[in-house]
Amino acid sequence: MAQNRFRKRLEADQFVVTFECVPGRGAFEREQRELERGMADVWSCNRLDALTFADSPSGRASCAPEGFSALAASQGITPINFLTCKDKNRNELEARLWTLERAGVENVLCMSGDYPTRGWSGVPRAVYDLGSVELLSLVNAMDQGLAVPGQRGRMQRLAPAHFFPGCAVSPFKHTQAERELQIMKLLRKQQAGARFAVCQIGYDLTRLEEFLREARGEGVAIPLIANVYVLTPAIAQVMAQGRIPGCDVSSQMAARLAVEKDVHPTDWREAHYARAGKTMAALRGMGFNGVHLAGLPLSGQVVSYVLDVADAYHGDWRRAAADVTAELGTATPPSRDSADQLPPQDFPPRCGMEALRMLRRVTGFDPRDTAGVGLGTIAGLYPIVDCPKHEGVGPCGGSRDGWCEVHPGERLCIWYEAWRRLAEQGREGELFSVDAAPLSWGVPR
Ligand code: SF4
Repeated sequence: MAQNRFRKRLEADQFVVTFECVPGRGAFEREQRELERGMADVWSCNRLDALTFADSPSGRASCAPEGFSALAASQGITPINFLTCKDKNRNELEARLWTLERAGVENVLCMSGDYPTRGWSGVPRAVYDLGSVELLSLVNAMDQGLAVPGQRGRMQRLAPAHFFPGCAVSPFKHTQAERELQIMKLLRKQQAGARFAVCQIGYDLTRLEEFLREARGEGVAIPLIANVYVLTPAIAQVMAQGRIPGCDVSSQMAARLAVEKDVHPTDWREAHYARAGKTMAALRGMGFNGVHLAGLPLSGQVVSYVLDVADAYHGDWRRAAADVTAELGTATPPSRDSADQLPPQDFPPRCGMEALRMLRRVTGFDPRDTAGVGLGTIAGLYPIVDCPKHEGVGPCGGSRDGWCEVHPGERLCIWYEAWRRLAEQGREGELFSVDAAPLSWGVPR
């Protein structure tokens, strides 16, 4: 099995650089063919510690990452396989993990995943059986040797797996409730076995420095890897409109990038690559344990250029940070429609039986064994009914200004609302101790 360069460096407290690959939709289309060809080229610069393979980003159908992760591993490239909870129940997640174990892929980034938005012949039904904390617990159990029923009902222990699991975190929240909840969730992920965390996309370096300080102050000890996504003006526009959950780009920044392209029609990309290098130098100087490069072409030459710029600013990272901030603008302001200005929202009060009836109506689930169903509530709200992703151990990373990723401007994120309800009585700390056991969907046979 090829050496896991990423894990080795992180465990030796060395700075890591990873590079994002997106498999795209199809099997042998241009995107997949280019990825197959390009991964060797980008790795050949010999300055990366892992290539990452995304799992159906933006909630759309896509080629699964496992095949590419296995291919990379077979070529001596260290992969990180993204594994999202969306579109899969716990058995499918376990199946994917065994597939990765067989292929010698150790690094797995466990995430909830973007809510499904598009698919063949319509919008797919959302499947969220486990959340990211529960998925990390499953990975951890597999690493210990999963206990499963064997012959004649006797429990047997499977051979321990060899995963090195990580998680995602969103540092770019505008309300205090969401910021505290993101750190709370990160602590839960750390407890559940996450060995590293990768930040969501955002460009506010001041906020990133604050986040790092807050996270360390609250007890986050795992390596934190910042995201350096090289935006095109078109993608910046999409992100500024809030169409990619968890990604924070202000409309001012999107406008600046569009102007930059108009003024420098031939070399605007080089300016972006240089800025990525400066951003990387700044993040390293702040104390992040690594950077995740994304939005770049699959080219060893381009990656080397970005890393050369980062090296050039290594001793002068504050100047690099100041340059980037001057070019992209300062802190992203909260949007005018921040839910902080609203009174507590009127979620319909429900008792447990009402919640179960609603669950049956929405999912078709027949709760014959109600005693076995973990219908947890948080501040009177039911994640299984009121949260589109059924997030039972803290919010996903997609809320924006207090609004739910799936219903922006219409429904509040229930975790945000629960935090506000409890904070009025100084009890928001109770959210840190909600039960992390996954819901059981009926009577085992
Ligand atoms: S309610 Fe909150 S946790 Fe649930 S999907 Fe919406 S934003 Fe995510």
